[in-house]
Amino acid sequence: MQKTIAIVGGGFAGVACGKTLLKLLGRDKARIVVFSEENYMVFQPLLAEVAGSSILPEAAAIPLRVAMPGIECRREKVMDLDLARNELTYESFEGHKRYLAYDHVVLACGSGVNMMAVPGMADHAMPFRTVAHAVALRAQISQQLEQAAVTEDEAKRRFLLTFAVIGGGFSGVEVAGEINDLLNAAEKFYPTIRPEDAQVILIHSRDQLLPEVSSSLRDFTRRKMEEHGVKILLQQRVKLVTGEGVTLVDGTQHRAATVVGTTGTAPHAFVERMKAEKEKGRLKTAPDLRLIGFHNAWAIGDCAHIINGFDNEPAQPTGQLAEREGKQCAANIAAVLEGKPTKPFFFKPLGMLCAIGGHNAVGEMMGFKLSGFLTWWIWRSVYLMKIPSFSRKVKVAMDWTWELLFSRDITGVRIDSANRVNDAYFQSGSYVFKTGDPATDFYVIEKGEVEVLRELEPGKGPETVAIFGPGDFFGEMALIEDRPRNASVKARTDVELTIIGKNMFARMSKVIAPLAQQVNSAIRKRTMLRRRLPRTAAILQTTLLKDLVEPLASQPLSGNCTFFSAVSLFEKEKADFYCVVDDNAQLIGVLTRTDLLAALEQASALPEAERETMLVVDIMTKNPLWVTTSDSPLLVAEMMRERNLKRLPVVFAVDDLRLSGYVRLEALMALVIRKISQQSPP
Ligand SMILES: Cc1cc2nc3c(=O)[nH]c(=O)nc-3n(C[C@H](O)[C@H](O)[C@H](O)COP(=O)(O)OP(=O)(O)OC[C@H]3O[C@@H](n4cnc5c(N)ncnc54)[C@H](O)[C@@H]3O)c2cc1C
Repeated sequence: MQKTIAIVGGGFAGVACGKTLLKLLGRDKARIVVFSEENYMVFQPLLAEVAGSSILPEAAAIPLRVAMPGIECRREKVMDLDLARNELTYESFEGHKRYLAYDHVVLACGSGVNMMAVPGMADHAMPFRTVAHAVALRAQISQQLEQAAVTEDEAKRRFLLTFAVIGGGFSGVEVAGEINDLLNAAEKFYPTIRPEDAQVILIHSRDQLLPEVSSSLRDFTRRKMEEHGVKILLQQRVKLVTGEGVTLVDGTQHRAATVVGTTGTAPHAFVERMKAEKEKGRLKTAPDLRLIGFHNAWAIGDCAHIINGFDNEPAQPTGQLAEREGKQCAANIAAVLEGKPTKPFFFKPLGMLCAIGGHNAVGEMMGFKLSGFLTWWIWRSVYLMKIPSFSRKVKVAMDWTWELLFSRDITGVRIDSANRVNDAYFQSGSYVFKTGDPATDFYVIEKGEVEVLRELEPGKGPETVAIFGPGDFFGEMALIEDRPRNASVKARTDVELTIIGKNMFARMSKVIAPLAQQVNSAIRKRTMLRRRLPRTAAILQTTLLKDLVEPLASQPLSGNCTFFSAVSLFEKEKADFYCVVDDNAQLIGVLTRTDLLAALEQASALPEAERETMLVVDIMTKNPLWVTTSDSPLLVAEMMRERNLKRLPVVFAVDDLRLSGYVRLEALMALVIRKISQQSPP
């Protein structure tokens, strides 16, 4: 009777498994179904070449139907696996939930990317695992070259052409080498760019690159890459990634317009949900590759934790091992179906090869250590042989020959970011955009504050003309008027922003009427004081805010104060609001009567024990807007007018949020009236 064998994943492991099963069992004995999120297998060792423009993207993507003819390929995503019922759930092409009952299931779904490993990496770094990632990186390199070629600002040119690659494993080394080669090759087409303007920085946490190869080859890799101009930072960890570059744990900052993240893997969501034994998120297998405790569920490739019988060590997550595991798994499934014993996984690795840029590679093969140009040639030949499709082999060979004879392709297909919505993190002091930059996005502040800087009088340098905080937006004027930025926006504290692309912003403001109204009303209010009341603006501009700060009417509350004690304080002191501070007396929130009412509603639905443990920190308005004693009263008045606020807390400085007091709009206006009547008495 025909058995159904489901393979989840069409990568190195899944393809090798499927092909071997078909060979061993034939179509009569087995229905082999391969699920894959894409209809092609990604040949990841060639991705860096795609990014570096050595080969065209399709050459690294081999159609599954070509790679394994005769096998049922389904480009549908597996959502869940019920190991007890022998059934998998997948999302059909039309978006419906579908089920497949199987006799055997093979998990070969690889691993996902964990861009959350470093703060800011998900928002500002480019991942590097898929063909789409490689194409996006190639487009980015081209865009940076074009922009740098026409900028007259030297510092900006260097910033645009600095690429930081995080992670010195296979993918990090390969991609850093390829970016560097592409930049070098492109130089002759960009006469305004000097060699010293471009820089690739490779950051690795260990003391040597490429942990997979021997120590002498690691040294060779480093030496060769440095000779070709790559800056290598070893034993350095990235603490933060922002739109300005990377900050290392030791506090050093490296400005780079492009950051590529090659570290951080994570299991796929459905593997995470599976009730099976795991090691560091990977599915633990018995020696014959079956999931521990299951007779018909198998795991291979990067998603599996497999002990290699050759050295009794966990098998490395590499293409070579994934392929071998796939073949062995197929042989074991065939053995089970034929009532024969299975064999444990045993494989003596053939060696390692890694291209490091500049027509150099390093490798270890059959006990020999190899490096240099010849090794690079072997690297190319080996990967050419491994590509599981004849037409793709020819395509890659042609691309490589082309690249040896002619220049690299510098075409940059633009990736449309005008429709994007994403989050971003900017460190205090870094710029969100600068005067003269093209207007591409609209920004909404989720946390923190920014200041808008504009040169009001030529030669006097930029002055702060507005401060925005949580809930505020900016960047709309240049988008509406379709012109470059006429002001810079700088993070006053660490800020979290939502960035909305130009087209998306246009569409949203067209269909969401309240958004358009709010934007228009904010624009009117923002410019009103300076435009319509120039005398008022001039008086406020020349006054010091510290002279207008009033002491707080009531002592600030501690965030750890219980909800009930806050209620009794409000009743006793008849205050309208309280500032809330942490143990270091830093402002962390504001508690208003509205917050209290919302909390009372919430508390009535809770059991008494939980109600008693409710703290002020849980119910307050977090990240409140504040100003510092050195801010201009004009800015403060504008901030309050725009948001219809009557008062604002005043802190000592942007990096010292201790409370100095508060400022009232009424007090600011009273001062203006007093000064105007002194200047021109009735
Ligand atoms: C940039 C880069 C360079 C590399 N260079 C080398 C190198 O030079 N040498 C080397 O040996 N190794 C290299 N590797 C590692 C190697 O590529 C991996 O070890 C190998 O791809 C693992 O194979 P796999 O079959 O387990 O997973 P993958 O090849 O990642 O395939 C996973 C498959 O599962 C599918 N899938 C995932 N989730 C689902 C789902 N829910 N439903 C349906 N399908 C799903 C995917 O669509 C995909 O088809 C590199 C990796 C990267 C990222």
